[in-house]
Amino acid sequence: MDKSYAFKTDKAMKKIFSLGACLFLLTGFPALAQNYFQQEVNYQIRVRLDDKKHEYSGFENFVYINHSKDVLNEIRMHLWPNAYSNNETGLAKQLENSVRKNFDFRDEKTRGYIDSIDFKVNGENVRWKIDTVHTDIAHIYLKKPLQPGEQINISTPFHAKIPDGMISRMGHVGQSYQITQWYPKPAVYDLHGWNDMPYLNQGEFYSEYGSFDVSISLPKNYVVGATGELQDEEEINWLNEKAKKDSSLNFTNKADSFPTSDKEFKTLHYKQSSVHDFAWFADKRYHVLKGEVELPKSKRKVILWSMFSNEQAKLWQKSIDYMHDAIYKYSMWVGEYPYSQCTAVYGSISAGGGMEYPTITVIGNSENGYMLDVVIAHEIGHNWFYGILGSNERRYPWMDEGINSYYENRYVEEKYKQGTDTSINEITSSFHIPVKSLHRITHKDIFEISYIAVARHGDDQAIGLAAPEFTEANYGGMVYAKTALVFNYLEKYLGKETFDKGMQAYFDAWKFKHPMPEDIKAIFEKATDKNLDWFFQGVINTNEKLDYKLSQYKKKTSNLKIENFSNIASPFSVSGIKDHAAIKTVWYDGFTGIKKVDFPSGDYDHLVIDYNKEIPEINRQNNSIRTKGLFKKIETLQFRFPAAIENPYKTQIFYTPAVGWNSYDRWMAGLILYNPLFPSKNFEYTLMPLYGFKTKNLCGGLNISYQIQADESIIKSVKIGIKASTFGYNNYIYQQNENGLLSSHSLDMKYTKFAPYLNIELRKKTGSNIVKRISLRSIFISEKEYLYSQILQKPIDYSNNSNVNEIGYRLSDSKRKDPWELILHAQRSEKFSKLFGEALYAINYNKAGKAIRFRIFGGAFFFDDNSKYSFKMGGWNGSQDNLYDYTFIGRSETQYLPSKQFVETDGGFKMGTNIGRSNKWIAAMNIKIPFPGSIPGGLFADVGTYEGAGTAFPGSQAVLYDAGIMFNVGKIFEIYIPLTASSDILREQKINNLKLGDQIRFTFYLDQLNPIEKIRNISF
Ligand SMILES: [Zn+2]
Repeated sequence: MDKSYAFKTDKAMKKIFSLGACLFLLTGFPALAQNYFQQEVNYQIRVRLDDKKHEYSGFENFVYINHSKDVLNEIRMHLWPNAYSNNETGLAKQLENSVRKNFDFRDEKTRGYIDSIDFKVNGENVRWKIDTVHTDIAHIYLKKPLQPGEQINISTPFHAKIPDGMISRMGHVGQSYQITQWYPKPAVYDLHGWNDMPYLNQGEFYSEYGSFDVSISLPKNYVVGATGELQDEEEINWLNEKAKKDSSLNFTNKADSFPTSDKEFKTLHYKQSSVHDFAWFADKRYHVLKGEVELPKSKRKVILWSMFSNEQAKLWQKSIDYMHDAIYKYSMWVGEYPYSQCTAVYGSISAGGGMEYPTITVIGNSENGYMLDVVIAHEIGHNWFYGILGSNERRYPWMDEGINSYYENRYVEEKYKQGTDTSINEITSSFHIPVKSLHRITHKDIFEISYIAVARHGDDQAIGLAAPEFTEANYGGMVYAKTALVFNYLEKYLGKETFDKGMQAYFDAWKFKHPMPEDIKAIFEKATDKNLDWFFQGVINTNEKLDYKLSQYKKKTSNLKIENFSNIASPFSVSGIKDHAAIKTVWYDGFTGIKKVDFPSGDYDHLVIDYNKEIPEINRQNNSIRTKGLFKKIETLQFRFPAAIENPYKTQIFYTPAVGWNSYDRWMAGLILYNPLFPSKNFEYTLMPLYGFKTKNLCGGLNISYQIQADESIIKSVKIGIKASTFGYNNYIYQQNENGLLSSHSLDMKYTKFAPYLNIELRKKTGSNIVKRISLRSIFISEKEYLYSQILQKPIDYSNNSNVNEIGYRLSDSKRKDPWELILHAQRSEKFSKLFGEALYAINYNKAGKAIRFRIFGGAFFFDDNSKYSFKMGGWNGSQDNLYDYTFIGRSETQYLPSKQFVETDGGFKMGTNIGRSNKWIAAMNIKIPFPGSIPGGLFADVGTYEGAGTAFPGSQAVLYDAGIMFNVGKIFEIYIPLTASSDILREQKINNLKLGDQIRFTFYLDQLNPIEKIRNISF
């Protein structure tokens, strides 16, 4: 599938074990070339499209030839349209846990299935049944076992309903048809036995080679693109006419509606041999362009067709050129394109990207011509890595997607200057990073970021896993991105010529066959005369992170000391740099541990490991050494504004001007200083010094941390850090004047908080998305206070210091459709000790992300010596945030807007109340139900009780409640209008003379607006 997969980084999926996948795991032994065999299937299929009901029906007849040495008692069949039939299929379960969540079979209309199956073997009835686990797999039990070398004829009628095209690869959008994985098809039988597997979105295919003879009947005005050679003269002439007319058309990108279908039908006839699948695409709106490519070696000509509707017509004007270049380059690099034609069609079905089938590819929406070129090259490239070299994509996705992505990058590097990638716009806009500073990012850099971003969090997985075992982020980050990087690494180490020799030998030996990883390894070792264990066992089959360090340079002997921090003896290069250019580069074979190597002596400024960034190195900061000067390892400082992506050979400090405001310091101005955000690093800091214009104070905050990734233990990572902040606030004191009247004075105050912390993230169980974190924190707070001295008749300075220690445990699964979180905290200081917990649960009930949210809170004190830390039913306002954990626009206001801000802590009541304070225990539940449609807001309700409930007033009840309506801007800002509450809260409001307008409060989580912390906390 398409390369844009690599950037869908957010959610992960639950691992789905198919019967097939289990089978692979149990029997993952090498396919020994001398025992190699493959089955053969030759199909004849008739199909007729009903474009009113979005159905097709037909008849299939295939010859199955048993080339194995085994006697077969059954034939396992894939009935993959059934993947779309209910919520229990492998596909449905996988999509439910994916980021897209666009799959819901409760809606009958979106479903698809195949029925009317009646298998006959050699014309006779036969016993068959649907698999008990997967409805998209069937078993045909042969009456007479199929002997080695024998063949049988299997036939069946079929009828299928075409699913909604937005779900996966097969479907229709209106009357645009994408008919793929659509006919009953035997699973592959190989050395490991039957490879039957349910259809999946993440996880592709494995099919037997053979020939196809397919007849498609449909209304006459459809344009059809299909696998293979079209046999009908009349249709070829019609397409030629269309292509001639369309080649001089001035395209607009205006979407057009479907013309009425012709009453008359036509039957199109296609034939193709040496392929393992057949797909077809039909659309009445398609424009047609035709071209050809002369292959580089044989000079044979291949016919090119491109078919597209108006939506992206302008970009597609050049599609024939893109197809030409892809076929030409892949033929030159890998081996000649063996078929007579190639087609690319535009499909509005898949959202972006594209999908490959033999001799035909479907391409989704592209941002620009460059992106279309890259996606067409990638999908056409699959004719080699999928079509011709038919590896088991479900078990070894790297063998098609990964190697193909390497060639995709090579295509970009050769065709576009330095591989500069305009698609970066897409990514930067999604991370809110200013684009300007990133203009030198290459296509390969994007692969590198996709890999390193995951690897530095310790969330990477070995390339060699089966497709369903990868998290969604890693399916892009490892299968596509890292594999492309490591094959580029192999190419740079071996040299392009030797690498190409290896790949071409692989092509020649394994074309139209099912190669296994052992086979490509054996071929490459033979062709290059090198032991490649480090690559195929180390780099492909482990998630060891490559990291070399250049630790010493002896100028006299020109001797280098190199440390390898990984356990893979992988090769590396060292370059001598003079005036910012590599004047000498030497490759060394790998070793483990520490080794001294000789480097040709010369007049260098620096020596650098992997200067050209060809090794997927996790840490390039330790790769260089200066040859002159005192501080050989100290790199030059580089101040940059306001980029965010690291330059591994410079120590960078980024800065951004910052402006802030609060009620006390008023306007504040300063800087935010931070180290590279992306990819994340072990050592991270953000400093924000600000100057408060009113208080003339230095205020602001900082967060400095160091993270250690642990390998192979229950602990995944440990982060140690410190957060600090200091800001002004006010206090009011009351003074009696000579007349005995009280007047209030506002005094400028200041707090300083200092909180070292230790966060431990525990390793997730394989296949689980549950994040477990333990946190320890010690909070030191110094508040500058004023006491009013009666004697001096003026306020005096006084400092109040406090210290609270905290331990926390957090469990969460945010990747589920209905995410939940469980947080427990224990706090202790000299004056109190308490335990409290919070459970959050959201039921997402529509695609717009609207959710019913539940929150349950409970807490109890062990002891309390008159502290201010009691539980509060009404959450906290600024003056109650005793640990200064939240950002308030007003901290001690009693009126106007700032006084209405609160945080949903403790009881979380939206109506501010002083009832329900307890230093014994408290329990509460909060519910938010969104309005239907697109109105941003909903209803809220809170209930709660506490030690002492019912005693506030005579007749008070034991349970408090309030309810009302709310409006929100995302999760950052919510405003609450209470409409009702329990009698004692109402009575309290009355006593305080509060009107409804006074009871409106809001939450405003300013911290969540910090883009720096946001990028740092992107979780994979
Ligand atoms: Zn692909």
